[in-house]
Amino acid sequence: MGLYEKEGAYGAVMDSLDNLLKKCPELKEKAGKKLEELVKELSLEANVDTVKEVASPVDPIEKIKKGFQDFKAYFKTEQKLFKALAESQHPKWMIIACSDSRVDPALVLGLELGDAFILRNISSLVPPYSKQRGHASAGSAIEYAVLHLKVEHIMIIGHSRCGGIKALLGMNEDGSNRFSEYIEDWVEVAQPATKIAKAKCAHNSSFEEQWTCCVKESVNVSLWNCMTYPFVRVAVEQGSLTLHGAYFDFVNGAFDRWGLQCSVEEPQPL
Ligand SMILES: [Zn+2]
Repeated sequence: MGLYEKEGAYGAVMDSLDNLLKKCPELKEKAGKKLEELVKELSLEANVDTVKEVASPVDPIEKIKKGFQDFKAYFKTEQKLFKALAESQHPKWMIIACSDSRVDPALVLGLELGDAFILRNISSLVPPYSKQRGHASAGSAIEYAVLHLKVEHIMIIGHSRCGGIKALLGMNEDGSNRFSEYIEDWVEVAQPATKIAKAKCAHNSSFEEQWTCCVKESVNVSLWNCMTYPFVRVAVEQGSLTLHGAYFDFVNGAFDRWGLQCSVEEPQPL
């Protein structure tokens, strides 16, 4: 069965239009406008909001095109900033955040380009110091931020409804119920947080409460893991670097920050 029989007059006309535009590509713009008018007319007739759907920026490619057009306008008005950034970067912050699409730290905290050196991974985890290549992504980012950029603050941000921590909470202690290639191996970095969260949460607490508690404790595990990196420990002890934990609750629009105290007391006579 040919196209014409299958789609009737519509198929024949569209095929003719296709052939015409192949021969005369300069007519494409004019044809596009005419077709747009036709779609509007038919949409009105059918009482369907098709035009809005067609023109909607929901299309992912159109969305990033529009986003970059906006950025180009910003780029033109901030030439001083971009000339300085072209030479070097001096961020005060290193931020470690989850890859979750709902928790972009730059958007949430109003950071500009050049303000923060950002590492994002599943559940914003920092594995303990190790020379193993498997953990080089986090280690190299922290090393570069501390030793080369000399950031003054590292903040690790956990967030509400973190899927990685939910997966961690669902794991058997012996790891017998793994379901993915990589995820459990990675979130296991925060394994100590599950025991603390379960101990802290009352028996009658909801899963949501336990989940929230576990996210916050996973941030604390990562903070302590940060301290196992020799260059982090030295910078913290010298007072040139401060570590922060944080919890971003995107359900209620709240953000909590806390510090890590790890000083040695002055000796006191007994
Ligand atoms: Zn997450």
